Amino acid sequence: MAYKTQQSKSVRDFFLKHKNTIITADKLVLYLERKGIAISRATVYRHLKTLCEEGFINRIELLDNSHGYRYSDKQKKNRNVLLLKCSQCNMVMKKRYAPLREMAIEIEDLTGFRVSRDEIVLTGLCNKCKRKKN
Ligand SMILES: [Zn+2]
Repeated sequence: MAYKTQQSKSVRDFFLKHKNTIITADKLVLYLERKGIAISRATVYRHLKTLCEEGFINRIELLDNSHGYRYSDKQKKNRNVLLLKCSQCNMVMKKRYAPLREMAIEIEDLTGFRVSRDEIVLTGLCNKCKRKKN
């Protein structure tokens, strides 16, 4: 796994493991440092911004005018969707597939390209047409 992807995974993992915790960016940097993950404040901010855009976390205004972040279970729909298209009958099956999200982040780390709609079309044979072939 690429180094940068490991970093973004660590940020995601924090929120998945602490679903009810509100954490500031600074505290998150400290938490990751304690886990032995060297990550700059700027990088943490970048990951938090991306996760907010995805709806994976919410940005929450705190009383002291700073802000924190918390896991959100209201993730945007139509994300992480695999479209399985049958080349024989043109049937399209939609399937949610969580690893697509990780892949979209890795693509941005590698190329700078931000995937806004992580949807992948795979072409093949549906169960019905597969049976007909045999
Ligand atoms: Zn088919």
